[in-house]
Amino acid sequence: MPEENQKTELKNQRLDPHDPFVLDAHRLARRPGSMLKVVRTVPAPADLGLEVIGVPEGADVELNLKLEAVVEGVLVSGTARAPLAGECVRCLDPLTDEVEVDFAELFVAPGNDGDDETLWLQDDLIDLEPVVRDAVVLTLPLQPLCEEDCPGLCAQCGAVLRDDPDHDHSEVDPRWAALEGLVSTDEQPDD
Ligand SMILES: [Zn+2]
Ligand SMILES: [Zn+2]
Repeated sequence: MPEENQKTELKNQRLDPHDPFVLDAHRLARRPGSMLKVVRTVPAPADLGLEVIGVPEGADVELNLKLEAVVEGVLVSGTARAPLAGECVRCLDPLTDEVEVDFAELFVAPGNDGDDETLWLQDDLIDLEPVVRDAVVLTLPLQPLCEEDCPGLCAQCGAVLRDDPDHDHSEVDPRWAALEGLVSTDEQPDD
């Protein structure tokens, strides 16, 4: 934890205006009511996602943003779109997808009230990376599937059942076979 705090502090010390996730709001920060649209494509940072699915590092993240000057600071709203790569939790096949998230966050100008959760304008710069990261991570499926009804793997031999729908281990114990016969008789429709 202390290490994490240190990192955050370091990051908060000074934003790099050339970082693609950093927006420069000084053109509008002091004029409530003014607005700026920003459309840019930025490379995904590392670890943008969960262990099972996420945005590949360096992939294009399309940002479509609106920055509005308000009394307390700058309101940033918009969308981020990015490709996803992951693994189906049932059959373990690689899968690709796309994520699109909406967000709206207020970046507060120094001198206003704030708390631990407050996102601050720093020298009129806005660090959008944590905002995009939170929005993306919250949207991702915890159990990604290659398709909704992926049958997964055979519990006995690990075969991928989607590729082999007739997959069957027919050497059933004769006692079980007898029971199966009973069950299917019971389930005969009445008509
Ligand atoms: Zn699957
Ligand atoms: Zn099998």
